[in-house]
Amino acid sequence: MEKKQNIRQISDLGEFGLIDHLTSDLKIRHKELVKSIGDDAAVFESGNECTLVTTDLLVEGVHFNLIYTPLKHLGYKAVVVNLSDLYAMNATPKYITVSIALSSKFSVEAIDELYEGIKLACDRFNVDLIGGDTTSSLSGLFISISAIGTAKKEDIVYREGAAKNDLICVSGDLGGAYMGLQLLEREKKLFLSDTEIQPKLDGYEYVIERQLKPEPRRDIIESLKNAEIKPSSMIDISDGLSSELLHLCKHSDLGCKIYEDKIPINPQTIAVSEMFRLDPSLPALNGGEDYELLFTVPLSKKEEIEKIKDISIIGYMCDKKEGKYFVPRNGQDLKLKAQGWNPL
Ligand code: ADP
Ligand code: MG
Repeated sequence: MEKKQNIRQISDLGEFGLIDHLTSDLKIRHKELVKSIGDDAAVFESGNECTLVTTDLLVEGVHFNLIYTPLKHLGYKAVVVNLSDLYAMNATPKYITVSIALSSKFSVEAIDELYEGIKLACDRFNVDLIGGDTTSSLSGLFISISAIGTAKKEDIVYREGAAKNDLICVSGDLGGAYMGLQLLEREKKLFLSDTEIQPKLDGYEYVIERQLKPEPRRDIIESLKNAEIKPSSMIDISDGLSSELLHLCKHSDLGCKIYEDKIPINPQTIAVSEMFRLDPSLPALNGGEDYELLFTVPLSKKEEIEKIKDISIIGYMCDKKEGKYFVPRNGQDLKLKAQGWNPL
């Protein structure tokens, strides 16, 4: 009798389970490799410095919707999400490659706009566009960008490295990008039901900008450098605070405690959350796409960190046995979970 093969669904493993499954048996062939899969960027030694590499793929209909995403913004965002991963390693971005797959619905002018955004990001963050690939697609637009940066080996900050009692810090504010997306999705639905209806987005500029035009936090990396503070661990917030903090805990083999009343949320994010009848802490914890930095520093750096603009201390790392908790303003501590909300 023929043996029945056990076929598994990708959803049984989840994104991180699938990556583990595909890569856990890889063997390392080059001794210059310092960090392989598992952080915001891979690291290898090259001469006196290290080179860092990261890559991201954006798919139309999954990661962006062209009904409300101007192509120039999309080009800019596609670059900066990669730069954010390099800053999260405390590295300096230097080069990018850009690969695109296009369906016949795109004109030359449309792709010019996409490249305007890509070039603007290159100008602002001082990176050279050095190559890529161009091909056709049967459905929509795909953009894959790889970014290459450099850092001194001793300056690189990994997801691992946090110690017990280290302070958990976050830059900027959280949840805005997710609420911006909710607004854009609502207006899209109204527009599709009646094309006479014009989008009403006045007064919501901040959250819309957070969604369409995120800024990687090079300024925070510079402020930390000026204050001579090297974080003990760091990650950028692409999937939401909970999910990223769980990564820091896992890689550093620790638990954590964060406090609801310490989590920075912009007043406009609060107003839009309330309009959608959402507790503003939910998008802040699970919304994603804010591209802020989440990092830990030793407790001894508390006063110095408090002096730096736009950084909030939201909690501390603790023993693994104490668990990973979110402490609400009222009520019982809640176990942190990576909600993995799919915002689309
Ligand atoms: P980030 O959110 O910072 O971009 P990801 O969660 O996408 O990071 O990826 C986690 C790690 O898994 C990274 O080191 C990434 O390079 C690696 N990775 C993701 N997909 C694959 C794949 N298909 N094959 C090999 N490595 C992968
Ligand atoms: Mg990242």
